[in-house]
Amino acid sequence: HADAAMYSAKELGRNNFRFFTPALNETAQSRLETENSLRRALAKNEFVIHYQPVISLLSREIVGVEALVRWQHPRKGLLMPSSFIPVAEDTGLIIPIGEWVLRSACNQVRSWQKSGYPLRVAVNLSARQFRQPQLTETIRAVLLETSLIPESLEVEITESIAAEDLNVTISILRSLKDMGIRISIDDFGTGFSSLSYLRRFPIDTLKIDKSFVADILPRRDEEIVTAIINLAQTLKLKVIAEGVETREQLNFLAEKHCDEIQGYFFCRPLPQHELQPYLACHPLNPKA
Ligand code: C2E
Ligand code: MG
Ligand code: MG
Ligand code: MG
Repeated sequence: HADAAMYSAKELGRNNFRFFTPALNETAQSRLETENSLRRALAKNEFVIHYQPVISLLSREIVGVEALVRWQHPRKGLLMPSSFIPVAEDTGLIIPIGEWVLRSACNQVRSWQKSGYPLRVAVNLSARQFRQPQLTETIRAVLLETSLIPESLEVEITESIAAEDLNVTISILRSLKDMGIRISIDDFGTGFSSLSYLRRFPIDTLKIDKSFVADILPRRDEEIVTAIINLAQTLKLKVIAEGVETREQLNFLAEKHCDEIQGYFFCRPLPQHELQPYLACHPLNPKA
């Protein structure tokens, strides 16, 4: 920046974008730092998984959990995925991080199953993971290692990941389905997938994005949520609403025969040691 200061404004002419260089450097610098610290975090085992229960509206039982990654940063505290997943995706570090999440979550849920809770587990896949050629092999190996049956694992991809390169998407989805695992389309309604392709996807579940669920308010039309539930029923897919925060939302979804719900109204994502007692004493627990 000292250099930049030595040029007169005239010399810089139209190239006065130079004045922004320090700011750009800062961004690049901070991404590089994040990348390096993500590498260290992996090596030092600083990632943790929080589990959010998924509840069946029909049986009122906890039928599964979604695995949501966090970074227990030594100085900055608990970091949410939005603060590090994008850098992990750009740098490719999402591949080892995602594999760690998959293995840990399968392991944990297998252990809950052994203690008598018939739960399934949902794991989020990023675009890069989904298109990685070793994906099915990795999943197969993790299932073998953890002795989790494929039917207990659900992978979530977003609608925008699925909408990219449809023929490739369909063949990846087929190979996952052939293994026996389940597939959900996450954040449904926010992407641009064509409905005719949706019909060709070998998927099991639509997850209604929480922004639509947030629109369910007393005495208001909730057309989008209703339309997605109807669409799922027409296509014979299961439908889950995420981000359920109020009783009104829960009642509305039950009335529309939404299959399952997830949200703060019922339970926030919890660390493994806090979810354990919750499973054991909650009235909606399958054992209760
Ligand atoms: P998502 O898969 O759509 O997960 C749902 C998000 O909604 C989670 O945010 C969850 O904590 C939050 N949530 C749950 N119930 C409520 C509610 O009632 N109200 C509101 N306002 N929010 C609720 P989180 O944990 O911050 O995760 C954000 C996103 O990060 C996830 O969205 C997912 O796309 C991504 N992500 C999380 N874990 C992983 C992972 O292991 N791998 C990859 N690739 N992505 C992940
Ligand atoms: Mg998800
Ligand atoms: Mg979502
Ligand atoms: Mg998402």
